[in-house]
Amino acid sequence: MDKVDSVVVGAGVVGLAIARALAMAGHEVIVLEAEASIGSITSARNSEVIHAGLYSPPQWLKTRLCLRGRRLLYAYCEERAVPHRRCGKLVVATSEAQVPALEALARNATANGVEGLSLIDGAAARALEPALHGVAALLSSQTGIVDSHAYMLALLGQAEDHGAALALKSPLQAARPVAGGFELDVGGAEPMRLHTRCLVNSAGLQASAVAQCIEGLPCVHAPPTHRCKGNYFSLSGARSPFSRLVYPMHEAAGLGVHLTLDLAGQARFGPDTEWLPDDGPIDYRVDPVRGEGFYAAIRRYWPGLPDGALQPDYSGVRPKLSVAGAPARDFSLETDAQHGIPGLVNLFGIESPGLTASLAIAEEVRDALSGVPQPT
Ligand SMILES: Cc1cc2nc3c(=O)[nH]c(=O)nc-3n(C[C@H](O)[C@H](O)[C@H](O)COP(=O)(O)OP(=O)(O)OC[C@H]3O[C@@H](n4cnc5c(N)ncnc54)[C@H](O)[C@@H]3O)c2cc1C
Repeated sequence: MDKVDSVVVGAGVVGLAIARALAMAGHEVIVLEAEASIGSITSARNSEVIHAGLYSPPQWLKTRLCLRGRRLLYAYCEERAVPHRRCGKLVVATSEAQVPALEALARNATANGVEGLSLIDGAAARALEPALHGVAALLSSQTGIVDSHAYMLALLGQAEDHGAALALKSPLQAARPVAGGFELDVGGAEPMRLHTRCLVNSAGLQASAVAQCIEGLPCVHAPPTHRCKGNYFSLSGARSPFSRLVYPMHEAAGLGVHLTLDLAGQARFGPDTEWLPDDGPIDYRVDPVRGEGFYAAIRRYWPGLPDGALQPDYSGVRPKLSVAGAPARDFSLETDAQHGIPGLVNLFGIESPGLTASLAIAEEVRDALSGVPQPT
């Protein structure tokens, strides 16, 4: 049976960042990925925004990892020539009634330690973005966009340079704690059995299912993952009238139907929120009927949106620890301090800003595993 220091389950952006960090810390690493390519699930279906860290409360892990991750990510993109742009973002209050909530958001962001913020009035916002309608806005200069696929390829390349191996079409099926680590059953076309000292569950939407296949892990440490789909519509036949990202005031389960840009300057709108059942196959198709709600939401901050300009685009699904209507939840990173199994790290609820936070999550996991004893 092959023996390694660490197995990372999932080659999304978070799993790849963890594999890189562990390989650079000297671990012999195997990344198990169920699909035929890296980053093909949630990491391929998001807004590619580098978030500043405006929304979550100061004491949350998500906040700390977003701010640290954002700084690390900009530095990484510079160093590894990953395409990105610090384009900035405006959060817009479209009526006087929304101004107190905008001011509260600005206070939260300041308490989080976010740099480069200014609260501006409607005229100042229009001076920056003439097509915008709003009575006030929060300008966040540290928000940006990144080519997430180029970023994931860079992470994989660096992990492999430090000896990590990627096994595609290799789903983890079962894990048993044994002396000195875990014995793993891996399925796929070429099933194998592996022994690993450390096991990191970074399986995104499948993290709960993976946790449930770890023998001896109490069910309270395998919480259910709920699914909240976000649909996007792209702007066709018109160039984006905005050079910054534009967000309305946020909603309970998402950030509102906002405008993001890709690095080519193409605009897309979304994601909205559509709760799905927890189980069964996911249908990623975007129902064109949802476009009706998009026109109304977007015209509150961009009254000039032409009729017929929106085309159904792609969708992604948020792995949520909270259910529909319940308050948002923090990221969950569980180590032996919580579940009592040395060498095991489970990540649950890594929704937005998981892309932004990926390098900081990886540091956290690497540090959590640094004390796991080496075999004698
Ligand atoms: C609509 C939407 C918009 C978002 N926008 C942003 C944004 O703008 N900025 C931002 O910072 N974040 C954003 N996010 C969040 C970000 O996309 C995620 O946090 C991030 O992609 C999570 O990466 P991951 O590696 O944890 O999960 P994933 O990318 O889902 O990777 C998990 C991997 O595990 C694999 N896997 C599952 N089960 C097994 C198994 N048994 N064995 C082996 N492999 C397995 C899967 O195939 C998958 O490849 C958004 C998310 C959504 C849904």
